[in-house]
Amino acid sequence: MNIAQYTKAASLDEAWELNQKRSAVILGGCCWLRLSPQRRIAQAIDLSALGLDQIEEDAEAFRLGAMVTLSQLEGSESLEAFTQGAMKEALRHIVGTQFRNRAPLGGSISGRFGFSDVWTLFLALGAKVELYKGGLVSLAEFGKTGPGKDIVTHLIVPKKACQTAYASLRLNATDFPIIAVSASTDGENVRCAIGARPARAEVVTLPFADVQQLGAVAAAEKIAASMKYESNMRASEAYRRDMAEVLCRRVLTKILGGDAK
Ligand SMILES: Cc1cc2nc3c(=O)[nH]c(=O)nc-3n(C[C@H](O)[C@H](O)[C@H](O)COP(=O)(O)OP(=O)(O)OC[C@H]3O[C@@H](n4cnc5c(N)ncnc54)[C@H](O)[C@@H]3O)c2cc1C
Repeated sequence: MNIAQYTKAASLDEAWELNQKRSAVILGGCCWLRLSPQRRIAQAIDLSALGLDQIEEDAEAFRLGAMVTLSQLEGSESLEAFTQGAMKEALRHIVGTQFRNRAPLGGSISGRFGFSDVWTLFLALGAKVELYKGGLVSLAEFGKTGPGKDIVTHLIVPKKACQTAYASLRLNATDFPIIAVSASTDGENVRCAIGARPARAEVVTLPFADVQQLGAVAAAEKIAASMKYESNMRASEAYRRDMAEVLCRRVLTKILGGDAK
């Protein structure tokens, strides 16, 4: 990676102005960007001096800054309590502690990676992306467009969910997941997201009463069957489909108050 001009932005306005140049690139933690060694960046924009590294919370929602690291999320006691440990479970497999100390939320969201544990969890939690100019958009909507020339400043997680669970399957510890599933309920609806199919996570929303009536086994079958899967070097389409159903069953059992096996 070769950077011609590096600017540590003093304000979001400055960062946004600089980012309007075609060749400008916003830097997260560079964990992904640095893997493109031949890349020449004419204008790199560093957001690290803008106070976006805070986890804020009020009665309605969590407001997570784009420069909050995966480790900060993993270590947050309020997020752990709010998600009953699902936050930690989603993040603890990602590469290693040093990596998670460096990788911020903004890059994880903006990258829109198919394999993303981060995406799978936040989609189930009904998160919204806050863009500097574009305002609030649902994470699902942001998946279609990406940040474009805008800047992701925060992720908003409504304090609606009262039960959340997360599960992923990896061929090797710390590798990309071959399937990732998260379910969350506010008592009214159940949101179940399946990621690493290997395409980006998608979410299915069902009334809580319907899921309760179906039970975890039948609901998992229904939800897993509603998504498309593909084969790649890590797993076949059929294996992903089968494992998605198993993981759906486990997370649904948990949020329905049962004992997930
Ligand atoms: C080897 C490896 C293994 C990984 N394994 C997993 C895994 O198992 N599970 C998982 O969930 N993730 C995994 N990841 C992804 C990782 O967690 C980070 O999300 C990813 O590396 C992005 O890095 P970064 O956050 O430093 O962003 P960067 O590399 O700095 O940026 C990524 C992209 O986002 C853009 N960007 C960054 N911040 C913003 C912003 N605020 N506004 C607009 N655009 C922005 C950048 O311009 C760039 O295009 C892995 C990554 C690597 C390199």
